[in-house]
Amino acid sequence: MPPTYGMYAVSADINAVENVKVPLKYDFQIDLATLKETWNENSKILFVCSPNNPSGNLLDRKTIQTILDEFPGMVVVDEAYIDFSSEESWTDKLAEYPNLIVLQTLSKAWGMAGIRVGVAMADPYVIEMLDKIKPPYNISLPNQQLATEALSNEAKKNAYVEELLEERTKLITALGQLPNVRKIVPSDANFLLVAFEGAKEVFNYLIEETLIVRDRSSQLHCTDCLRITIGTKEENLELMNLLKAYLEKSVSKL
Ligand SMILES: *Cc1c(COP(=O)(O)O)cnc(C)c1O
Repeated sequence: MPPTYGMYAVSADINAVENVKVPLKYDFQIDLATLKETWNENSKILFVCSPNNPSGNLLDRKTIQTILDEFPGMVVVDEAYIDFSSEESWTDKLAEYPNLIVLQTLSKAWGMAGIRVGVAMADPYVIEMLDKIKPPYNISLPNQQLATEALSNEAKKNAYVEELLEERTKLITALGQLPNVRKIVPSDANFLLVAFEGAKEVFNYLIEETLIVRDRSSQLHCTDCLRITIGTKEENLELMNLLKAYLEKSVSKL
């Protein structure tokens, strides 16, 4: 349901699986009516990314519940950003919904993107099926060790998350005061989708100053949007200083 994480379509394409797109609405929520008109008894998997990448918002819980009740195939809820959210994970509902698969990863809140380890949680029958079709090569031993080590120290992750959430609040306030910021999408993730006046120029200026944000302006409903990852306190201050310097530079040009 675009705009969303690109890998679902990539994986479908690699496996020569037909890929049907039902765009999110302008508020980045699921268009349930169109979705229901679009799915049929041949629909195999529906990917629901919540909090959604690149918009950062949570998808409405009731809508996901309806999908779990009515969608004819498997429903994958991608919770890569769940640690940054105030809402409960869908893992609590696994016993209730044998058609539910929940994905989580060590790549975000746990800060372990380098080991590329994530998990799929589902009904034992589903896991048994996945075990049958997965490649025989397991996650390498060093990566298993690093993953279990990280998982045994949840307090460290929680401390990362706490700091990030404080910084997210501060950054929303600071960005909101810039005259060229048109919109900040409510975020339950570790990034903000921000609509700027003249986003391309802002993006290019930041690149020149060696600060990299994501230009998402070519994605659906994301015109003039940059996706800004919440950094450390120092990184966020640097970002704000650069954005203010950019404004002063553009004013002096007039
Ligand atoms: C980062 C991300 C993932 C997971 O990436 P891995 O590093 O492969 O675990 C999954 N879904 C979304 C939406 C992401 O942003």
